[in-house]
Amino acid sequence: MKTLKIAIQKSGRLNEKSVELLKNCGLNFENYKSSLISPVSNFPLEILFLRDDDIPEYVQDGIADLGIVGENVIQETEVIVSYLQKLGFGKCSLKLAVPNNSDIVNLTDLNNRSIATTYPVILGKFLQKNGINADIRTISGSVEISPGLGLSDAICDLVSTGGTLKSNGLKPFGDVMSSEAVLIGRKGIENEILVQELIQRIQSVLRAKETKYVVLNAPKENLTDILKLLPGVKSPSVVSLAEEGWVAVHTVIPERDFWDRISQLKQAGAQGIVVMPIEKIIL
Ligand code: ATP
Ligand code: MG
Repeated sequence: MKTLKIAIQKSGRLNEKSVELLKNCGLNFENYKSSLISPVSNFPLEILFLRDDDIPEYVQDGIADLGIVGENVIQETEVIVSYLQKLGFGKCSLKLAVPNNSDIVNLTDLNNRSIATTYPVILGKFLQKNGINADIRTISGSVEISPGLGLSDAICDLVSTGGTLKSNGLKPFGDVMSSEAVLIGRKGIENEILVQELIQRIQSVLRAKETKYVVLNAPKENLTDILKLLPGVKSPSVVSLAEEGWVAVHTVIPERDFWDRISQLKQAGAQGIVVMPIEKIIL
């Protein structure tokens, strides 16, 4: 059988979550920091550990069949690949930012000003779309210090919490794009059975991550109210308890719905609420 290759970041913000996701898919491999390639012992797959900037081109050119990388890197490298699945981690935004005391307040103020960035392609398209004529200064890192050094009037950089901007006396000013890690594939690879199987495994892990298995006890007479509060993957199971007039309700629900409803459930008489993690949900 043909062996697939998937490229993930060797070290950096996406490495740990990418490895965790693949391991949660039941894939067995050694995560040696020193090796470039790691075979999976229980699936026809090899893992390539690369700099994230190289991943889109490796996938486009077929050196790797699949890759996990930030959408920002894909857009910047302008490759032609298939987007197979958003992965829900590595979330960040590419933002414009200016010094706190800057006279730049809206986009048009950027005309004839300079903007430092490591994302010239994405920024260039954004400025063009908005009819702004600014000078893009491409630098390879530490973008946030460039206004302080007098290198630029503004910056365009990735932000997740905004802490780095703040500590450099900058304020966010406009969103250029939002990004998260995605699974990409060489064009057409999505038709291969092995790839479909891998995507299904990834989806079952992602689904499980956002859902919880909930068990609670309730007086039988309140059951209708409680069931209304628990929209599950399917309808909940209701089991009689040894104590007369009481039932246990078992269900699988999105975690965010659950936290919103906990006080309503208690009001409806739910007791002994147990919330458990789920490993996989296969539909
Ligand atoms: P490499 O050595 O592989 O080239 P890098 O230094 O270019 O790594 P990282 O800083 O590890 O990249 O970021 C990898 C990806 O993580 C980014 O491309 C982006 O998609 C995502 N990310 C999430 N939050 C942030 C953030 N606050 N700053 C930068 N990137 C972030
Ligand atoms: Mg990089």
